[in-house]
Amino acid sequence: MAPGHTIPMIDIARQFARNGAKATIISTPLNASHFSQTIERDRENGLEISVSLIEFPCQEAGLPEGCENLSSTTTPEMSLNFCRALDLIQEPVEILLRESHSDAIVAGFFFWWADDIARKLNIPRLQFYGTGFFPMCIMHTLKEHKPFENVGSDYEEFVVPGLPDEVKLTRRQLPEETKDEGKSPLAETLRKIVASQSTSLGIIVNSFYELEPAYARHYKEVTGRKAWHVGPVSLFNKSNMDKTHRGLENSSSDDDDCLNWLNSKKPNSVVYVCFGSMAIFSAAQLLEIAKGLESSGQEFIWVVREKVKDDGDGDWLPDGYESRIQGRGLIIKGWAPQVLILEHEAVGGFVTHCGWNSVLEGVAAGVPMITWPLSAEQFFNEKLVTQILKTGTPVGAQEWTKRTDDRREAIKGDDIEKAVVKVMVGEESERMRIRARELGDMAKRAVEKGGSSDADLKSLMEEIRNYHP
Ligand code: UDP
Repeated sequence: MAPGHTIPMIDIARQFARNGAKATIISTPLNASHFSQTIERDRENGLEISVSLIEFPCQEAGLPEGCENLSSTTTPEMSLNFCRALDLIQEPVEILLRESHSDAIVAGFFFWWADDIARKLNIPRLQFYGTGFFPMCIMHTLKEHKPFENVGSDYEEFVVPGLPDEVKLTRRQLPEETKDEGKSPLAETLRKIVASQSTSLGIIVNSFYELEPAYARHYKEVTGRKAWHVGPVSLFNKSNMDKTHRGLENSSSDDDDCLNWLNSKKPNSVVYVCFGSMAIFSAAQLLEIAKGLESSGQEFIWVVREKVKDDGDGDWLPDGYESRIQGRGLIIKGWAPQVLILEHEAVGGFVTHCGWNSVLEGVAAGVPMITWPLSAEQFFNEKLVTQILKTGTPVGAQEWTKRTDDRREAIKGDDIEKAVVKVMVGEESERMRIRARELGDMAKRAVEKGGSSDADLKSLMEEIRNYHP
């Protein structure tokens, strides 16, 4: 129950329905308000898709009322309580599944207990991790071989062994729970998640074969798990209405303004800057971003989440900034229609935190990236973009931090400027753009009828039909 997971899962549920399945999305009232209009439109268009609601046990879990999404948590304690709350909804979910006579359940990996329900009902459970094969291969190898234990310091690089390419990381770039598995406050939950891997039918991956063929094969070989790549799932959204409403939160932006603005710009002239749904930045970091974008001389759209603003409106902007950048920069405070923006021909670069969805949406749109990983598995995703696909350049972030920790050292405006210019201007930029465009074309072919992802989704549905426990 975080946008980076629910948004692609809703795309997948809708695609199941388009392929003839009856799909039920289980959600909570506040979360459902972000997509119920879209599902209603699908129903009007004849799809068998619906939403079933359960109450989220905020009070029982010690969360403030209305905290139904991980993105609403602002401290590590809240995030922990949120994860605990997920365990409390097992029973209502089981009741719903019994009532709906479901033939299969697709659940995010955090819902380890979905396997217990599936076993009781004799139906298959599929896991959704929200990330790709490349990062999953790295995570698997780190867990199995712990290469980070053989280095002398947090700054020394180590090679992730056994991968199809040489990938180097430092301890500083690793998620906390990877290094200190046993000590993590979520250790028990993580153990249950791992146990549920061996009992679930397999995983659904928001990726496409041509993006990471060696890793799609490697993952299946080393884990022995079944995996179906069905993405990029953002491409299932065909109409502008679907794209605009995808993941839309209450604080909506003015999408027409944004499109009109983009329509007035030359092809590949605008940098789109967005750090996903979860990132929290300090005012000092926002100031550096503002400076870097201004001094880069490039036109830009910069999405700033309302909740990251510290004290007072606009305090984080340099004096007179908004009037100086008028016409050249557009700041969206709130939720942006990311897929719509990325697909616009005026957009020529994407400053991204390397959340998997954003990476894949950037790939699907054929846009080169400036990579700025923060937390989760984002440092692994950065390696895919900059070293394997070679469609991006790093801004220079080196240190993994908890999402709720805004004390990380700020990346300087100068470094932001350099990375932006490298992706937008010059020969290397052109080379990246050509490769990015090729990948974008491959992504579109993958989800078309007969493409690799379309075929994998159909073979998954066939496997579910023929399932015998
Ligand atoms: N997103 C969006 N508008 C915003 C911020 C985010 O549409 O203003 C979407 C984005 O397109 C992506 C998802 O939210 O589908 C974020 O997922 P990602 O994995 O990139 O990052 P996370 O939010 O999980 O860190």
